Amino acid sequence: MRLLILLGAPGSGKGTQAKLLAERLGLVHLSTGDFLREEVRRGTQLGNQANQYMNTGELVPDVLILDMIKTRLVSDGMNRGFIFDGFPRTVAQAEGLGRLVDEVGAGIDRVINLAVDDEVIVGRLTARSTCGVCGAIYNDVSNSPRRAGFCDKDDAALVRRSDDSEAVVRNRLNVYHQLTKPLEEYYSRKGLFLKVDGHGTTDQVLTRVLTSLAASGTNDRAQV
Ligand code: AMP
Repeated sequence: MRLLILLGAPGSGKGTQAKLLAERLGLVHLSTGDFLREEVRRGTQLGNQANQYMNTGELVPDVLILDMIKTRLVSDGMNRGFIFDGFPRTVAQAEGLGRLVDEVGAGIDRVINLAVDDEVIVGRLTARSTCGVCGAIYNDVSNSPRRAGFCDKDDAALVRRSDDSEAVVRNRLNVYHQLTKPLEEYYSRKGLFLKVDGHGTTDQVLTRVLTSLAASGTNDRAQV
């Protein structure tokens, strides 16, 4: 089973790149943020618990996230492999993931970090909108839809995420620097970490990621 992780601050382009990479490489795209938003929308117990953290840009407790991942790993295409987007976000989550992949006899192939400057991120997120139906991501500045407010793919209305206001974005960035950034060193020590420049167009970043993966020889899988 192939397993890739996309690391990076909120707004670094993880969601966009993960969707493209999943298509290219035949992997299941697993976004903890998308799952949580779906739970909130459905009003489940997990959604109600998660909502208070998400609204302010704090992280949902590790134990809830790891339970959710465990269920998904078992139910979603174990044999196809995964690309994780937005998970793990803490060292405790990375350790939990390490135990889970050990249990199923798998390993993590590579951890790709999309590096983008904080001020570029604030600009990107406060201009971001998402298709309410297919999840396609747009940006008023760098990737606007052909018809303002509507998705190019299915013409559905675009929506803004409630946690993309500037105040919440700045808190999400603080949380990222404090709790998620240590994962760069965690995975570097395991020889899995690849840093990719996340500035530029979607195509430019995708090309950099694919080039970096090819150069690193993902067949040479390291175990966690
Ligand atoms: P995202 O769509 O990845 O930006 O996630 C949106 C929000 O969901 C985050 O600000 C967190 O509140 C929550 N979230 C998503 N993934 C995780 C995770 N792995 N651990 C904790 N909280 C998460």
